[in-house]
Amino acid sequence: MKKERLQQFFEAATEALIIHDGRQVLDVNRVACDLLGRSHDELVDKPLTSLTAKPDHSRLTIQMKQADGLPFNLQWLLPDGGLLHTLSHSKPLSGGAEYSGVLAFYENHQHSLAADYATQIRNHTFWETAIDAFITTDKFGIVTAFNPAAETMFGFYHTEIMGQNVSLIMTKPDRNRHDDHIQRYRLEGDPEAMGMNRPLYAQRKDGSVFPVNIALSEMQVDGETYFTSVLRDITELKSAERELIQAKESAEKANQAKSEFLSSMSHELRTPLNAILGFAQLFNFDNNLTEQQIDNVHEIGKAGEHLLKLINQVLDLAKIETGNLALQPEPVPINEVLKECLALTLPMAESRHVTLNLSTNSNAVVYADNTRVKQILLNLLSNAVKYNRPGGSVNISISSGEQGRIKLTISDTGQGIAKDKIQDIFQPFNRLGMADSQVEGTGIGLVISKHLVENMGGNLGVKSIPDEGSDFWVELPSVALENPGASAVPQQHQLVAENKTRHDGLILVVEDNVANQLLMKKQLETLQYDAEIVTNGSEALDALSQKNYQLILTDCNMPIINGFELTKTIRQQEQGGKSHIPIVAITANALKGEIEHCLEAGMDDYLAKPVNIVNLQQMLEKHWRPPESINET
Ligand code: ADP
Repeated sequence: MKKERLQQFFEAATEALIIHDGRQVLDVNRVACDLLGRSHDELVDKPLTSLTAKPDHSRLTIQMKQADGLPFNLQWLLPDGGLLHTLSHSKPLSGGAEYSGVLAFYENHQHSLAADYATQIRNHTFWETAIDAFITTDKFGIVTAFNPAAETMFGFYHTEIMGQNVSLIMTKPDRNRHDDHIQRYRLEGDPEAMGMNRPLYAQRKDGSVFPVNIALSEMQVDGETYFTSVLRDITELKSAERELIQAKESAEKANQAKSEFLSSMSHELRTPLNAILGFAQLFNFDNNLTEQQIDNVHEIGKAGEHLLKLINQVLDLAKIETGNLALQPEPVPINEVLKECLALTLPMAESRHVTLNLSTNSNAVVYADNTRVKQILLNLLSNAVKYNRPGGSVNISISSGEQGRIKLTISDTGQGIAKDKIQDIFQPFNRLGMADSQVEGTGIGLVISKHLVENMGGNLGVKSIPDEGSDFWVELPSVALENPGASAVPQQHQLVAENKTRHDGLILVVEDNVANQLLMKKQLETLQYDAEIVTNGSEALDALSQKNYQLILTDCNMPIINGFELTKTIRQQEQGGKSHIPIVAITANALKGEIEHCLEAGMDDYLAKPVNIVNLQQMLEKHWRPPESINET
């Protein structure tokens, strides 16, 4: 009877009650079943830990062991995955298992309200204080929310725009297509349709337009689709971008101007130097000179060569800096080039009592620019001699380098380089304190060499021990010997023997500089060619209309009609049936693209100033066709 009354009381209680044994549910009342959303059978025998949220497990265990019955927060797991926040208290039962008792609980509305309130406050603060504009629209593009940042950005008060179509803040093309865009986004999920990932412009209330970045998200509220766009004004970003582009463009222009300045400077410097060196060379063909005169001429030649070297080095460096360096890689037999460079360095080595030893002979072939390889090796060899000691030596070895490259090591027994100075060795114009010494130099040879080697796919390094000597090494890409290209290595030009037979026919020289006119005439005279000289393209065209010439040697930069225009006109005239006349450019302009420019204009070949008489002879022999052979064609 007492048990029945107790059961009635248990069932009639307004609080949810669970009787447990400290671990599992023994019995539950109807209120508990209703609150937990499960039937009596679904709850009985279930462990309490399977019904409550994990973070509350330890709190529950502690409370069940205490007899004071003070209320505590407990979260129950609901069948739909939600949580039920309750205030609970536990009372021990005597006579059962050790921690058996009754757990009474009721829903804690306060808690979820507080949680909602906190979320609202958080969202509200975020919405109100965000720097970016937040705009929410429904699926038809009608604005449903517009935050204060959006008000500032667009100049609309939120009440003005809410309920209106969002296209109001769009620029024309997007405004007209907005509905299509929404459709495309919804059907195809194409984010670009909504302005994401593409530059977009927005329009303020006053009609002014500005660039924006847009991030878009879609959400479902009560089964309805809404879009929230987060927009950022990127006007400043864009103008910084524009400034950067402008800065880049003006830097490129400045670079271009520097290049052009160098090109014309090289022309200006080389033209008089051409005359100095050329006239000095002519004396080598004169047998009537006194010994004193021969010495004087030799000094003029030496000083001219030094000046030419300086101009070339400064130009090289400038070309490297402006990215205008032109390289013509070809298979180069390294042993041959090395021997040639050793022969050129020998007089200097002998005068300083330094011996040169080539310790290995190699049939290795590197793929590089022949002239530049010589320039690099001459720089390293002359340094090894210059910075050596009397009685010292220079040893050159060839070995296999990294990644199938060929490694050339030039070791000297000189003064070496101090550890703290070695990192400055590739700095332009830094002579590491040698500027005050007797040793001549410019301080840019090594910088140029390093750039050249690297531009040819190799590298240049140094190892040095003060007072013992230095090892400079160069690695260059090799050409496999079985490669047929390797056997086709061009042989160095031999000096052409002096030609004593007069050539039939006439050369037309087009040159505006008087010294160069004279030099060219004398060089051609020495080589047994007859020549006539005119001073510009216009005079050349007159001369050509009156006489036949076998070949034209023309400067490029001249007044009235320059060499390029002259060539183009001649080539046009030849289309009427005239036979082709060889045209060779002689120019001081040393910049990249010059050869292409000459060939494009229709020239057959190219000689760079200062013109070496041997090169001139080879060039003439290559293109010379006596008058009879032309008449025959
Ligand atoms: P420079 O025209 O002065 O020789 P480089 O660029 O060829 O210019 O070399 C830069 C500097 O590096 C030289 O001035 C010299 O101080 C140092 N240097 C170059 N090669 C050697 C070497 N083999 N031994 C010692 N010092 C060297």
